[in-house]
Amino acid sequence: ASHDQVLELKGNIRVFCRCRPPTLNEEIAGSPSVIEFRPLHNHDLYVCTHDGVRKTFKFDRVFTPSHSQEEVFLETAPLVVSVLDGFNVCIFAYGQTGTGKTFTMEGTEANRGINYRTLEKLFQLASQRKEQCRYEISVSVLEVYNEEIRDLLTSSSSSLGQNCKKLEIKQGAEGIHHVLGAVEAPVQSIKEVWKVLQTGSRARTVGSTNANKHSSRSHCLLCVMVKGENFLTGEFTKSKLWLIDLAGSERIGKTDVCGEQLKEAQNINKSLSALGDVIHALASRNSHIPYRNSKITHLLQDSLGGQSKTLMFVQISPCEHDVGETLCSLNFASRVR
Ligand code: ADP
Ligand code: MG
Repeated sequence: ASHDQVLELKGNIRVFCRCRPPTLNEEIAGSPSVIEFRPLHNHDLYVCTHDGVRKTFKFDRVFTPSHSQEEVFLETAPLVVSVLDGFNVCIFAYGQTGTGKTFTMEGTEANRGINYRTLEKLFQLASQRKEQCRYEISVSVLEVYNEEIRDLLTSSSSSLGQNCKKLEIKQGAEGIHHVLGAVEAPVQSIKEVWKVLQTGSRARTVGSTNANKHSSRSHCLLCVMVKGENFLTGEFTKSKLWLIDLAGSERIGKTDVCGEQLKEAQNINKSLSALGDVIHALASRNSHIPYRNSKITHLLQDSLGGQSKTLMFVQISPCEHDVGETLCSLNFASRVR
């Protein structure tokens, strides 16, 4: 069977692996890369462990440190067509803190990531179809921290910081889940989206003493809602695209932290394993899918499984000192695949 046929058989879940380049400090320290790639082969990678063992991992696509944001987006872009065609799509970035989750999803102003490129493409395609379709697009920006959902677009100050209002998930008509009271900002251009995203990321840092630390301990979710009307066929579509920068997956031992930090670590652990369990159950076509075990899987219930499409980026570090976490991430990703 060709590679495309193999993908077809596996259903709607894909896993891409992306390895970040070494940092300047790592280069100066001359720490060797423990990740090897097969030339001209985009699906395998090897990890060389301390004891000299070489472990092979297979993914739908492997991106080396030299792959650009554009090359990564090229492989992701077909999902944008799916969203306009009425499918729900979830794109996740999973991995240890510092491996490039935010780089892949948000990117930088000079080196934009999947969020921006996806929305840009969404508007482009919608405009190409304007002779037969009309689309209404709106966005929500949410954060899940300690199993509590926070709306990053609510302007009221009471929703920010420590005393934030906790939002609840409500199951509405047609089994659609939504966050009660979350702002859904209508957007008509990529410029408007950019403004909304900036509001979201400013709100994210309010009330946290260390913005970077906070963002690595919470899940950040961008939800793009698309309503379509095809006035040639009279057909209506409604779909959601989730772009999710997950909390850092590094394991934190009970001996390292206590109190609030321990609770935080346990909540992250719980939600990431619940997500792994749900995707694994879907990939194995189990009859019971344990959506209710965490806020994030509950929230995504109607966008994971069924006709929905899921893409998980597992982000890894090339460095020897991260090899333990790298193996954990690769094992997690192999399990969901
Ligand atoms: P995470 O969100 O997983 O904690 P970041 O996205 O913040 O990690 O990445 C850590 C650092 O590495 C950032 O400075 C980021 O710009 C850089 N980085 C990550 N991936 C790449 C890449 N593929 N190319 C260049 N720089 C990268
Ligand atoms: Mg990050």
